[in-house]
Amino acid sequence: IQKQITSIESLLSNVYEKTLPTLLEKNIKLTINCEEDLTANIDKIRIEQVLFNLIMNSFKYSSSNSFIQITVSSSDQNLQLVIKDYGDGIPQEDLPHIFKRFYRVDKSRTRSKGGTGLGLAIAYDIINLHNGTISVGSEVGQGAIFTIIIPL
Ligand code: ATP
Ligand code: MG
Repeated sequence: IQKQITSIESLLSNVYEKTLPTLLEKNIKLTINCEEDLTANIDKIRIEQVLFNLIMNSFKYSSSNSFIQITVSSSDQNLQLVIKDYGDGIPQEDLPHIFKRFYRVDKSRTRSKGGTGLGLAIAYDIINLHNGTISVGSEVGQGAIFTIIIPL
């Protein structure tokens, strides 16, 4: 990875521009809340890819007119990024497996949506290379929430 001092606001604005055309297809609204003037020593391109993968998942597993919320904050030691949706959610028994390569929940449900089951495995690797953590919480029918913590 190629770390550089990165403005989080500019990173988020790239992600917003890149995902907007897709989100408009289902009229899904992306809201982003971020502390001002936040910077971090990270691989900008790769972290953008992580957020892109997560937003595309939220998009895929949400119905029309839904919402996706991103909240970014920092403490002395960490940068925290939270991505929340109100879509299908993920069954409890699948949660421990979704970061594995090629793992997809309920093949019959997900087959129609396309995908290889690599997006989250890639996200996991990228966050791991930053010595960070990515975790998920979900309830079926309520949505999913992904939390990324990267040490500063
Ligand atoms: P790819 O990302 O390679 O196109 P994919 O989206 O199926 O394919 P992942 O992004 O790795 O693969 O996600 C793995 C599985 O986890 C998905 O198939 C889906 O079942 C489940 N999943 C991931 N994110 C969400 C979400 N936000 N809401 C509901 N289910 C999700
Ligand atoms: Mg995916």
